[in-house]
Amino acid sequence: MGLAQIKARLRAAEASAGRAAGSVNLIAVSKVQPPERVEAVLREGHRLFGENYVQETQGKWPAWREAFPDASVHMIGPLQTNKAKVAVDLFEAIHTLDRPSLATKLATLAQARGQSPDLFVQVNTGLEPQKAGVLPDDLDAFIAQARGMDLPVIGLMCIPPEDEDAAPHFAALADMAARNGLTGLSMGMSSDFEAAVAAGATHVRVGSAIFGARDYANR
Ligand SMILES: *Cc1c(COP(=O)(O)O)cnc(C)c1O
Repeated sequence: MGLAQIKARLRAAEASAGRAAGSVNLIAVSKVQPPERVEAVLREGHRLFGENYVQETQGKWPAWREAFPDASVHMIGPLQTNKAKVAVDLFEAIHTLDRPSLATKLATLAQARGQSPDLFVQVNTGLEPQKAGVLPDDLDAFIAQARGMDLPVIGLMCIPPEDEDAAPHFAALADMAARNGLTGLSMGMSSDFEAAVAAGATHVRVGSAIFGARDYANR
């Protein structure tokens, strides 16, 4: 795999879905990857990355941002409320807004700073008890609540259950976004990003297919 091959597959998926080339944002998920792999992808010209852990991002991204000032980093992992203050300074977007307490915290920070990262609401489309995300039945009220706080909610995000066909989850997320007037759809990973593009993804989050397998001993 590697960046060039994934970009080629993404272009092909856009074309077969009748979508414009470059209409889908490729988030290169660099969590836990050795620095040399990430630096290689930066040197290849890629500028959009995803990370899961606030502390890890704090440790490695300041230096890379200095070397590559146009790099953009999105938070795609669960965000603890007590890390929100650090997170809003580290990330251009947060894909994991999933509860009222976090919305309240982000709204307070946005008012103090006069700006906020773009936000995606994470939806638990598979109704999995162990998984983060707003339940579909609670989603419309939650979005209304977040909008009432002036938060810049631009889309929805989901991680379908591992043992199920992802396509119905992607379609359901697209429906939920449309009915709420949201255009952003963060869905699709290494194993299923082409199906996500077919269902309307605007952001795909691809890690291992670009960088290779993750070794969590590196964390
Ligand atoms: C790690 C992660 C990814 C990337 O997963 P791959 O299977 O390596 O592409 C995408 N989305 C989220 C939310 C992740 O935590």
